[in-house]
Amino acid sequence: MNIVLLGAPGAGKGTQAVLISKKYNLPHISTGQILRENIKANTELGKKAQPLVEKGELVPDELVVDMVKSRLSEDDCKNGFILDGFPRNSKQAEVLDNCLADLNISLNYALNFTCPPDLIVQRLSGRRVCKECGANYHIENMPPKAENICDLCNGQLYQRKDDTIETIKNRLQVYQDTALPLIDYYKQKGIVYDVAADKDPEQIDLVLGQLLKN
Ligand code: AMP
Repeated sequence: MNIVLLGAPGAGKGTQAVLISKKYNLPHISTGQILRENIKANTELGKKAQPLVEKGELVPDELVVDMVKSRLSEDDCKNGFILDGFPRNSKQAEVLDNCLADLNISLNYALNFTCPPDLIVQRLSGRRVCKECGANYHIENMPPKAENICDLCNGQLYQRKDDTIETIKNRLQVYQDTALPLIDYYKQKGIVYDVAADKDPEQIDLVLGQLLKN
């Protein structure tokens, strides 16, 4: 099963990707996470990406495209994958199609997470992430058992630099500028499934469970 996740930042794609990944044993490929790892490791890619990521701007296509192509050609993607955060525009979607055609595979689902902007701001501004394993928490909706400590690995939690109100607004604007053509691109292929993402993660998980079974 080959899945791409569409929807604004903060719509809950990452949270659901983790659940789908466990349930169907598919690798969760988050381009944002790969970029953050590169920033942390101070690689050449990380150095180029850092100022853009921190401002909530998109990183140039040529930087992310090679990163995704190489990840998709790894062995664990042979039985499927969940792409979270890629593609972000129609150009990336075309590149992805070409890359998948070379690997002789096609996409099954473009899950489009829809969520009101107010809720997105509330979710992102309260989000905390584990420095070690990348697990997501929320100070009100999903707090860790011990303050600022990851339940899973005891890592320290932090607030992403792009989860501040100003940058969140920019990210939402960037999303609005690019989302519609991308969704249309996949609608023409008949693989878009809207997911109302303003519910609790468990409820969304149930809906997705039904959808992906069919
Ligand atoms: P995310 O974790 O998906 O919210 O992504 C965090 C940031 O990484 C974005 O705001 C962009 O700066 C960058 N990014 C992630 N995926 C892409 C992509 N497909 N194209 C360009 N930039 C990206």
